[in-house]
Amino acid sequence: MTRPWRIALLSAAGLLAATLWWCVWQWQFQQSLEIARQHADNRLSLYSTTLEGALARFAFLPRLLAGQAPVRSAVLEPSGHTIDRVNRYLEQVAEDAGAEAIFLLDRRGDTVASSNHDSPDSFIGHHYGFRPYFQDALDEGEGEFFAIGSTTERAGYFVSAPVVSTADGRAVGVVAIKVALESLQASWRRAGETVLLSDANGVVILSSRPGWRYRALAPITAAAMDEIRQQRQFLDQSLERLGRVLADDSLAIGDGSSSERYLDLSREQQRLGWTMHYLVPMRPLYLDARNAFLAAAGATLVLLLLALWLRERQKRQRLRDREARIVREANERLEERVVERTQALQEAQEELVQAGKLASLGTMAAGIAHELNQPLSGIRTYAANGVRLLAKGREEAAASNFTRIQSLCDRQDALIRQLRLFARRGGSREPIDLEERLTFVLELLDERIRRQGVEVVIEHGEAPRLPVLGDALRLEQLLTNLLRNALDALVPIERPRLAICLAADGESMTLRIADNGPGLDEAILSRLFDPFFTTKAVGDGLGLGLFICFGIVQDLEGRISAANLPQGGACFEVTLPLAPTLPSSEGERQDDD
Ligand code: ADP
Repeated sequence: MTRPWRIALLSAAGLLAATLWWCVWQWQFQQSLEIARQHADNRLSLYSTTLEGALARFAFLPRLLAGQAPVRSAVLEPSGHTIDRVNRYLEQVAEDAGAEAIFLLDRRGDTVASSNHDSPDSFIGHHYGFRPYFQDALDEGEGEFFAIGSTTERAGYFVSAPVVSTADGRAVGVVAIKVALESLQASWRRAGETVLLSDANGVVILSSRPGWRYRALAPITAAAMDEIRQQRQFLDQSLERLGRVLADDSLAIGDGSSSERYLDLSREQQRLGWTMHYLVPMRPLYLDARNAFLAAAGATLVLLLLALWLRERQKRQRLRDREARIVREANERLEERVVERTQALQEAQEELVQAGKLASLGTMAAGIAHELNQPLSGIRTYAANGVRLLAKGREEAAASNFTRIQSLCDRQDALIRQLRLFARRGGSREPIDLEERLTFVLELLDERIRRQGVEVVIEHGEAPRLPVLGDALRLEQLLTNLLRNALDALVPIERPRLAICLAADGESMTLRIADNGPGLDEAILSRLFDPFFTTKAVGDGLGLGLFICFGIVQDLEGRISAANLPQGGACFEVTLPLAPTLPSSEGERQDDD
């Protein structure tokens, strides 16, 4: 995804999240508001009923009292006795009914009798003609009013009825009852709720918060204010504004940091244009909405983190899958290459086998040439000598040479047989006297030994002459090759010496051929027994002698090794298994020679 696309997607997601959170906030706010409204409605119903009940109890009482004869007499024919009687009567009724005061006014509005006649705040003698409940009772037959008592300075609800003359039906006085509503306020306060009762002008006349009483919820018109002053309804209270109505219709009460906002839920009352207000603090509603918003934001964050985690996991899984695929493919490629290489190797091996076969052929040819060369040169020498001796007339000596030629021809024949044996691998396995074969080979090489002036020393171990297991011709070939190599190495040496040692232990015979030649170069030791390995000049050596020795020793289940001597020169050591019994070597020798 390109960068602009990613930014656009992220912006869209951010916008979506913000819209979602706003919806959650709104929804929770409306929910809380609805619950608050329902609660307020219930409480308003309850408080309205309670208020109405409290006032209704007194509605009939003024008319009842006004109809009493002593009450009427107290207005029409006031005497000390009558007034006194009515005073006590009103006192009794006020106590029974739970009214704060019951009082009787004459036609002018002066109090003639009162339930509180004997208290310092007695209404008797006070003029209340300016109160609306007085005029209304006279004019309309009943009156009611709420005001702060001008005598007691205690607020109360006044309800009144006219005292009518039985003679002419004229209103001659007024019975008024003052009911204190403080207990209602106290019960609202105890409930811990914010409840107000305002009059028709919006002045708070009752409040669960005492400080808010006699404050105006709405601006009071000048005319209304004049009327209030005239009626002395709230005495000297300034009737300041209680809070202000905000744009969202909430009511903010208080100043600065102590200001609190309320939802004003109200219900109009039946009496006097009163309104009951139930104020719901807005702060908890906003807190609820804020908490819902935070929960939604938290949930979104958790979801986001979860999504990121899942994405990361998916990425890692994809990476692992990719790596696994790469490894698998690499393995497959490797296997393919292994198959290819194996095939190539097989082909190379086949080629090598082919080449090996050719090399074997070469080896064989070279071996034959190598082995036939030596006797042939012997035959040539004896023949030449024989011719010379015959020319001199020394026939006997010449015959001896021919006998030797015959013997060498036999030897050639034996060698061919030997090659046949070599070709068969294994050959015969019989007890052979190794020392005897050694003597024979030394004899063959005698002419060369003498020519080179080599001192030959043969040492025997303490053990008796024990036969080894093998076949005479191949052992002779082994000895010939080793001795010839030693003689080759001794060519440039001034005092050439050959030390041959034969020693047997319980199981094997060890033959050591040591010379005082230049020794073996360390670098060639490991390749000494390889076919065609030679350090000699072309035509002098074919590199087959030690290779053939190695093959013979292996066939006879022995060991061959080469090393340099500390005093100089090379030493070849051959170990061969001993034959279990001594052979009758006589018969064998006849065959060979
Ligand atoms: P060739 O005699 O035809 O070289 P060989 O297999 O018999 O092949 O010998 C291999 C090589 O081993 C020789 O070329 C020579 O370098 C080394 N070698 C064998 N015997 C001796 C020895 N006694 N002293 C020093 N070098 C030797």
